[in-house]
Amino acid sequence: MEFCPKCGTVMFPKGDCFECKNCGYTKEMTKESVSQYEVSEKVDAKESVIVTSDNIQTLPKTKVKCSKCGNNEAYWRLRQTRSADESETRFLRCTKCGHTWREYD
Ligand SMILES: [Zn+2]
Ligand SMILES: [Zn+2]
Repeated sequence: MEFCPKCGTVMFPKGDCFECKNCGYTKEMTKESVSQYEVSEKVDAKESVIVTSDNIQTLPKTKVKCSKCGNNEAYWRLRQTRSADESETRFLRCTKCGHTWREYD
């Protein structure tokens, strides 16, 4: 929510700006106010898929077949989703080809 710095009235988006309906003051829309939601979505998606090479040594392994190369071993880790209705999801990464996927129970 944006407020007019001149009179304190709530401002409404108009093109690339916010406009005060009361006194006519306009303010340029900041990038943060436009893409706040978008950015958090992107970060979340990135986190959930990639197992970085930095922490791969510490990950446990499991016997599971990689759908990509047929290898029978993969690193795995659990990730708690933010939504309360969803259970933990296990992410797997093939030890051979690096293929990453998520497992549903
Ligand atoms: Zn105003
Ligand atoms: Zn593989």
